[in-house]
Amino acid sequence: MKATQVESDALSVAEAEAFCRSRGARFTPMRREVYALMLSESTARSAYDLLDAMQRRLGRRLAPPTVYRALEFLLVQGLIHKLETTHSYLPCAHPGAAHQGLYLVCTDCGVTEELEDEAVNGLLRDRAHASGFAPRRQVVELQGTCARCRP
Ligand SMILES: [Zn+2]
Ligand SMILES: [Zn+2]
Repeated sequence: MKATQVESDALSVAEAEAFCRSRGARFTPMRREVYALMLSESTARSAYDLLDAMQRRLGRRLAPPTVYRALEFLLVQGLIHKLETTHSYLPCAHPGAAHQGLYLVCTDCGVTEELEDEAVNGLLRDRAHASGFAPRRQVVELQGTCARCRP
């Protein structure tokens, strides 16, 4: 059997904190909690889901913007990503790598894998340029069934 855990080199909470400090960004307790929560799951989750889970984690009600602002911060720092098709968030699996946006999304269990594939990215770039197109941002999301969910 193959390992069930999706491979991820996401930064630990302590590493994320050190990363933010090195950039002069403040990893506040709320930002830290939201990131820790996201690391504990391999599924991409909506902002609403994360708000709900955060309230359970902390045992109190939170103003939604508190969590949404923490997500915005983590996005800007590149510690997490947002999937366009499902409006959900996941921790970055390849911090520090050049990012092109290439994701495998299991529609059964929600596990999302972030890929870095220079061959695929190069091909897309070449085809775009051949069409006289100047790409600004790439979002490729494949929806389907992951190895664990396939019969
Ligand atoms: Zn990433
Ligand atoms: Zn699955």
